[in-house]
Amino acid sequence: MKEDRNLQPWQWPEEQWRAIVNRVRAGRPQRPERWHNGARCAVALSFDSDHETNELREAGESIGRLSQGQYGNRQGIPRILEILKRHGVPASFFVPAVTALLYPDEQRRVAAEGHEIGIHGWIHERNSELPLEAERDLQLRSAEVLENVAGTRPVGIRTPSWVFSPNTLAITREMGLLYDSSLMADVDCYELLMDGKETGVVELPVEWIRDDAVYFNMNRFAALRPYTPPEGVFDIFKREFDGAYRECGLFQLTMHPHISGYRSRVWILEELIRYIRSHTGVWFATHADVVRYVKQEVSG
Ligand SMILES: [Zn+2]
Repeated sequence: MKEDRNLQPWQWPEEQWRAIVNRVRAGRPQRPERWHNGARCAVALSFDSDHETNELREAGESIGRLSQGQYGNRQGIPRILEILKRHGVPASFFVPAVTALLYPDEQRRVAAEGHEIGIHGWIHERNSELPLEAERDLQLRSAEVLENVAGTRPVGIRTPSWVFSPNTLAITREMGLLYDSSLMADVDCYELLMDGKETGVVELPVEWIRDDAVYFNMNRFAALRPYTPPEGVFDIFKREFDGAYRECGLFQLTMHPHISGYRSRVWILEELIRYIRSHTGVWFATHADVVRYVKQEVSG
């Protein structure tokens, strides 16, 4: 892409802003008429097991904040797995390679209980800050670590903090991954286009609205405080599901073991599962299974 770095955005020629917008774009929507076994709604729950990597990726060495990350392993994951098991719900866990190396037993348990493990960066790095070769190397090595630890090669990626570099999609396609789950152009799955061309990679879209972190995060030495009570967060997630059910679509959710795995919050997950289960025609599936179904039904 030719571009003049000295120009301000309002001075850019059309070619320049079009090229930026078209680098990664939503292509064909991929929404089946009906879901698996005739279900009217698919439910894809996900958990990003960041644990200590949120601190490490900032080059932080705060023992206090690292201990908050460790809570994700010691308390968050077991509470979440117990709820999923009790209700027979499969889910997807996106795991930075460093988390997998710190807690291989956790990943083996997650996999043994029937859940999917997907790529979530090396150390939760912001990939837009990396040169192409470093990003590519980390993404490849992350897949290798997860495969070695959990025994299955991952088929999907969720980029850390949903940061997406101009090279991310090319790397994902090169690796032959089935899907990405970091972008936000739709509520339904869609095919990802790169520079206007189909890539064969499916996007299973996320949104900050369906992410526990934005409502609950806290920074002791800044003004950031949780601004939504757990009941409010439950209500938002419930309404997102209600809409998906009404529209015969997909309900996707992102939670974090070190954020929602607390006594006063983890009930949100269980209440939500109970509420969803009170509806007929709901299919709980991993992100990978949703994408496989969509590829088979829509792409042919
Ligand atoms: Zn994360």
